This record gives sequence, C-alpha cells and structure tokens, in this order.
Amino acid sequence: MVAPAVDDIETSPFAAVNHYFDQGAVAAGIAPDYRLLLKTPYREMRVEVPVRMDDGRLEVYIGYRVQHNGARGPYKGGVRYHPQADLDEIRALASLMTWKTALVDIPFGGAKGGIQVDPRGMSDDELKQMTRRYTQHISYILGINRDIPAPDINTNAQIMAWMMDAYGQKMGYTPGIVTGKPLELGGSPGREQATAQGLAYVLEAAAKDLDFPVEGARVAIQGFGNVGSWTARILYKLGCRIVAVSDIDGGVGNVDGLEVPALLKHVHETGSVTGFPGADPLTQDELLTCDCDLLIPAAVGGVIDADVAERVRARVVVEAANHPVTPGGDQILAGRDVIVLPDLLMNAGGVIVSYFEWVQNIQEFRWTLERVNDELKRFITEAYRQVQVVQSQERLSMRIAAYMIGISRVMEATRLRGYV
Ligand code: NAD
Repeated sequence: MVAPAVDDIETSPFAAVNHYFDQGAVAAGIAPDYRLLLKTPYREMRVEVPVRMDDGRLEVYIGYRVQHNGARGPYKGGVRYHPQADLDEIRALASLMTWKTALVDIPFGGAKGGIQVDPRGMSDDELKQMTRRYTQHISYILGINRDIPAPDINTNAQIMAWMMDAYGQKMGYTPGIVTGKPLELGGSPGREQATAQGLAYVLEAAAKDLDFPVEGARVAIQGFGNVGSWTARILYKLGCRIVAVSDIDGGVGNVDGLEVPALLKHVHETGSVTGFPGADPLTQDELLTCDCDLLIPAAVGGVIDADVAERVRARVVVEAANHPVTPGGDQILAGRDVIVLPDLLMNAGGVIVSYFEWVQNIQEFRWTLERVNDELKRFITEAYRQVQVVQSQERLSMRIAAYMIGISRVMEATRLRGYV
C-alpha cells in the first residue's frame, strides 16, 4: 500500500487543518512568516511503549505527544488509542486544539497525544500497563503548568486515573495533571457529558439564528462512545428523533426514532449498538447518507469526503468529531447549501469543562454540576456569538470565522510575548 502524501489535503489530516488555517490566517491578516511559525508544532515526542501481554508475548507500540502551541497557556489536549493515531493525525489534532482553546478563550495552548494501537480486545491489565508506560515516557514534558492530557477516542476516566497515578508516582500527588478523571479522584461534575452538552447549547442557539427546529429534528449520529452516546441522550431529551446511530461494528436505524434509554441499556449489555431490537441494520455509508435533518459525525476524522458529501441528505452537519469532513467534502457541502457547524466550536465543551476541572484541582475546591453547566453555556455561547459576528462581517464560512478568531488570539499572545 502506498502511504498517503502528507501534503494531500484529502488524505493528510495535518494538511487539511493547515488548509483551513491558511484561509483563517489570511482573513486575520497574518504575515506569511508568522503563518509558518503558527502552523509549526513546537515540540513532538515519539516514545516506545512496550507491553507484556497476558499470554506472555511482548508487544511494542509507538506513542506520541505533540505540543503544538503554548503562547496562551499550558498545552492541552486528549490522548487517543487508535490504529490511525500516527504522527500526522496527532499533529492535526494538536493544531486543532490550539485554535479551539483560543476560540473559546480559555488560557490553554494546543496539544494531542496517542498510541497507535487497536485497544479493543486488550485486557484491563494490558491497558493499564500500556497507559502507565506511555505516561512515564512522556512525563518529562507534562506538568500542571506545562501540558495537561485528557480523554479522547478509546480512553476514558479510568485511563486518566492510571495516568494521574503513574505521573504521581514520580512527582507526588498531582490531580491537575490530567482532566476527565473519575469524580473520586478530583474529576469535575459534568465533564463526562461536557462535549455533548456544549454541542447542545450551541445547537439550540444556532437553530434559532439559522431557522431550523431542534424539537422534532431527525438526527443521525456516527459513533456511540462518550460524545455520540451523550449527544443522543441530550438531544433525545430535547425532543429530537434519533433515527440512526452507529459504532465501529455497524449501525442501526428506525425512521420513527430509536428509543434512546433502551438503546443505552442494549449497548451497556452487549457493547454495541448493532442488533438493537426493532431497528434496521445500517452500514456507515447508509448512516452518513440517510434521510435526516441533523447529521452528527462523532467518531473518527475524514468520514465525509467529496463522494459522501454529494449524497448527504441532512440540512445541517454538526461536527462533534474532530475534522470529520475533508476539505473536498466541505466544498461540496457548501455548494449544496448544507450548513456545517464546525468542530472548533461544536466539540469545544469538553476542553472548556476540562479547564474547569483543572481550575477546581488547583483551587482544591469542587463546583456543583449547575455551576459547571452555567459556565459552560456562558463560554461556548459567547464563542458562538463571536463566530456569528465575524462570519457575517467578513463573509466567511463558520469554520473559517472560527479559525480566524482563534488564530488572531494566538498571534496577539505571540506578539505580546515578544517571541520572535
Ligand atoms: P470514544 O472512544 O468514546 O467513542 C468513539 C466511538 O466511535 C465508538 O462508538 C466507536 O465504536 C466509534 N468508532 C470508532 N472508529 C469508528 C469508525 N471507523 N467508524 C465508525 N465508528 C467508529 O471517543 P469519543 O471521546 O466519543 O470521541 C469521539 C470524537 O469526538 C473524536 O473525534 C474525538 O476527537 C472527538 N472529541 C472528543 C471529546 C471528548 O471529550 N471525549 C472532546 C472533543 C472532541
């Protein structure tokens, strides 16, 4: 197999993010030499992660931590365990975090980490060993004022607990070193559902402005992990009809709407949405192109390319996942007047509440769920309003308006620091 060219915006996630960055930076009036500075990741660490498997085999995985930009605060971003988590993907995700944290105006930079591995089928013991080794190996560049990881695909509160413990073994009790921890170890109320909750707050505001109803909307969601399942739960409560969902094993659909509480129970018992009684099986392609009002990709990147975009039937694509639409797909959706609510804004709820968790850890004080959600709504709605204003003033897409705001803030911090 020929490896994808890293400058191909359809196959390289980092090239795709930089394609949008360039448009945002031009709109923000950033000079070409500063554009290069802002695009380039500050530091990249590649580590070997050896794991003694339960059957005695020794596996050696490769892990990464990319610190993209720290002008506005400590590096911040999730850790992903996934076969496609290579350096190009992690760079793209780290860059997205830089513009996202700046867009929602929280005092963090951008980072991302990951191990290139398929963790499905690994035992808890193997996962724990892998997590601890990875944390030890990247610990030299972590710190509560330096770089703070969080959960992403195939990582969760338990994995954050192991990361915190591995870091603490070396550095002493430091709960603020990761966010998305269990409540018992200093996690924040509302962090687990924060990404979906933030998405719902923006969706409600955008629905009024763009004149589409949330109540009764037919929704298709790809991915039924943290973000996808919480999105289903919250939108179901808001009166949406969840007509299709999928996970890595396949999808299910019902035009009359899936009974979400029963679906959650089914997933809890079987580990997958597939086989849910009373629903028809769907392929990923059928889910992405099904008849619905809101299409919410909440799994991996690059799933809506030009070919899929031609066949999307939704009126609105809500980017819960990071970079789910390729530049080619984006162009086609724009040409077909499909509204795209961009990842920088729509999934920022997770990092906003991660910020609140970090603040609570530093303060050694716990907020109530109500306070967390009130503050989340305030931060994310304000960011949405700013995107709306810039979009209409500058005649840009919401995506490029979001990039432009984020890039302007990082540029200003860079200038004030007198960095170069
Ligand atoms: P998760 O591991 O909890 O869930 C991922 C889901 O996607 C699972 O249901 C999995 O089966 C499915 N999936 C994986 N590969 C797939 C494929 N090739 N096709 C279809 N489905 C597939 O991960 P998550 O935390 O929910 O993250 C989902 C997306 O949201 C990612 O793009 C992530 O970067 C983004 N995101 C997550 C957070 C967060 O707080 N967890 C915050 C911001 C953005």
